[in-house]
Amino acid sequence: MNLGDTQVWIPDPEEVWKSAEIATDYRVGDKVLRLLLEDGTELDYSVNPESLPPLRNPDILVGENDLTALSYLHEPAVLHNLRIRFAESKLIYTYSGIILVAMNPYKQLPIYGDAIIHAYSGQNMGDMDPHIFAVAEEAYKQMARNQSIIVSGESGAGKTVSARYAMRYFATVSKSGSNAHVEDKVLASNPITEAVGNAKTTRNDNSSRFGKYTEISFDEQNQIIGANMRTYLLEKSRVVFQSENERNYHIFYQLCASAQQSEFKHLKLGSAEEFNYTRMGGNTVIEGVNDRAEMVETQKTFTLLGKSKYPIRGCIAQWLCNRKIVTSSETVVKPMTRPQAVNARDALAKKIYAHLFDFIVERINQALQFSGKQHTFIGVLDIYGFETFDVNSFEQFCINYANEKLQQQFNMHVFKLEQEEYMKEDIPWTLIDFYDNQPVIDLIEAKMGILELLDEECLLPHGTDENWLQKLYNNFVNKNPLFEKPRMSNTSFVIQHFADKVEYKCEGFLEKNRDTVYDMLVEILRASKVCKVLVFRSSLYLLMETLNATTPHYVRCIKPNDEKLPFEFDSKRIVQQLRACGVLETIRISAQSYPSRWTYIEFYSRYGILMTKQELSFSDKKEVCKAVLHRLIQDSNQYQFGKTKIFFRAGQVAYLEKLRLDK
Ligand code: ATP
Ligand code: MG
Repeated sequence: MNLGDTQVWIPDPEEVWKSAEIATDYRVGDKVLRLLLEDGTELDYSVNPESLPPLRNPDILVGENDLTALSYLHEPAVLHNLRIRFAESKLIYTYSGIILVAMNPYKQLPIYGDAIIHAYSGQNMGDMDPHIFAVAEEAYKQMARNQSIIVSGESGAGKTVSARYAMRYFATVSKSGSNAHVEDKVLASNPITEAVGNAKTTRNDNSSRFGKYTEISFDEQNQIIGANMRTYLLEKSRVVFQSENERNYHIFYQLCASAQQSEFKHLKLGSAEEFNYTRMGGNTVIEGVNDRAEMVETQKTFTLLGKSKYPIRGCIAQWLCNRKIVTSSETVVKPMTRPQAVNARDALAKKIYAHLFDFIVERINQALQFSGKQHTFIGVLDIYGFETFDVNSFEQFCINYANEKLQQQFNMHVFKLEQEEYMKEDIPWTLIDFYDNQPVIDLIEAKMGILELLDEECLLPHGTDENWLQKLYNNFVNKNPLFEKPRMSNTSFVIQHFADKVEYKCEGFLEKNRDTVYDMLVEILRASKVCKVLVFRSSLYLLMETLNATTPHYVRCIKPNDEKLPFEFDSKRIVQQLRACGVLETIRISAQSYPSRWTYIEFYSRYGILMTKQELSFSDKKEVCKAVLHRLIQDSNQYQFGKTKIFFRAGQVAYLEKLRLDK
C-alpha cells in the first residue's frame, strides 16, 4: 500500500490531535511509520497494522459547512474542520448532519439584524450558510406539523442567546400589522424570567439556573397568537447560598439598586452589600451591568405583559417577606438551636422564592394566553447539557437523566431519517449500529431502579442517604455493568452515561428528592390523584411526550474556551463537549452509513476528468457515473446508486479526490 505523502493525525497532549505526513512507503505489517511533522521534525511512530493513525481529509473538503460530508469521519477531522471555520474564517455555525453546532464567539457579530432574518426567510437550509436563523426557518417552514428546537450545551455555551435569536426570528417573520404586540409580549417573557431565574456564576455572568421550554403558538396564517412556558429544576439553594464570586438571582440586586426610587421606597431596602443573602459571594456587581438600568427594563417588560404595574407590586410584597426573615433570624432562635433556626429560615426562603418563581411564570403564561385557535406550535427548549463536575449531586443526576432521554429521542429521530432517505432513494435497507442507551435509562427509571429505591427510602421514617446507597450497591454492583461502586469511596456511586462516566455523591439526595416529593404531595392533594413519582420525572415524561409529537431540530452550543476570549479555540475543551453533546456519536453513525452523498450531476461534473472516452459515450449520465465507479472502486459495497444520488461509504470521496489530483 502506498501511503507515502499521506496526511494523518496523531494524538497530541496539547492540541488533542496534530497533523503529520507519512514520509515512507508503508507495507502491511510495518510496525513503525516514519512521520514528518509540520514543524519539519521527523518522528518514528509505532503502529498496529489494523489501526493506522486517522487519515486527513483532502483540502477541498476542509472547511465544509457540514461535518458529516467529510470523507474521513473521525474526531480529528471534525475538530480540524471546526478550527478552520471558527478560528480562521470566524464562522460560528456548522452543521453536523441535522445538528447545528454553534460556537460561542464571545463577541457581538453583525449577523443577527433584520436584514439577515429576511435573507433567510423562505430559503432552503442547504442553500444558505449554517445559521440559527436557518434552523428557525426550517422549523417555520415545516409548520404543517408541530416543531421543536432543542438547544443544549454547557453553562456559558450560548443556549439562551440562541433560543432568544430563534424566538426573535419567529417574531420577525410572522409579524402582522394587526396584532403586532403579541410578538413583543412573547419576547418580553425572556427578560423577566432571566431577572428572576438567572444569576452571575463563575462560568457565566447571566447563567440560567433553570431549564425552560417555551411553546410559541401560531394560527393558520402562521402568525404568532401567544405562548406558553414550562420551567424545570430551578436552583433553589442559590437563594440562601452563593459561592465566591457568584451572585444571587439578578432581581435582588436590581431591587436593591432601585431602593431609593419612589415606587420601591416603601420596601425600605438598602444596598445589596447589607444583606447576607446578596453579599455572600463577596462581589455584588457584574462588570458592564447596571442593575438599576436593568430594573427599568424588567419593569418595562412587566408592564408590557401585565395590564398595570400590579404584578410587580404583588411579587414585591413577597420579596419583602423574604427580607424580613433574613434580618430577623435572631428572634426566631428561642425554641430552637441557632443552626436549626438558620436552617428553618433558609428552607422557608427557598420555598418562598420557588413559589414566587412559579407564580411569575404562571402570570407570564396568563399574559401570553391566546383566545383564538392554535393551529400549530414551535417549542424551544433551553436546557443544560450533560454535566460532569468534580463533585456531582442530585441536580447533575437529574440533568444527566434528562439528557439521556433527549439523546435517545435524538437517536431514534436520526435513525428514522436515515431509513426514510434510503427508502426515498430506493436503496436497500442498511443496518446502522446505534448506541442504544435504553439500559442506562432502565437503570434509573425502571421498577426497582435508582429512582424507585430513592422514593422508597424517602418514605421511610428513618431513611438516610447511606441506607439508600447501600441498597443501590446491593442491587446493582456486579449485576448491572452500567453501575459501579468507586473503589475508594463508600459515599458515592458511578453511572456510565452515554457521554461519560459520572461519579455522584449520595449526600443530599434524600432531602432534595423529598423536597420535590413533598411539593408534589401538595400538588397531588390538589389534583386528588395518587401516584408516587418524582415531580421532575413526570415533567420530564410530559416533555418527552411533547417533543416526540413534534419534528425536532437540534442546536448544540459549544463554549470554545473558559476565559471568554473572542474566537479562541481550546481543542481540549471543545473535544470534551463534542463528545458530551452527541456530535461525535452522530459522526460515528454517519461514518458507518454513507456519509458522502452526491447527485449524479455533481459527480459527473467533478470527476469527468476520470472518465474514459468509452464511458463518456453513454448518453445517460447516470450510466456514465455507474460505469466509472465500477471501474475505479472494485469493492461495490463502498457505494450505492440511489434514484437521484450516489451514496459513498467513508473514505471513498477522499480516494476519488486523490485519483483526480494525480491526473
Ligand atoms: P447557562 O447554562 O449558564 O445559562 P448559556 O448556554 O445559556 O449558559 P448564554 O447565557 O446564552 O449561555 O451565553 C453566555 C454569554 O456568551 C452571553 O452572555 C454572551 O456574552 C455570549 N454569547 C453567547 N452566544 C453568543 C453569540 N451568538 N454572539 C455573541 N455572544 C454570544
Ligand atoms: Mg442560559
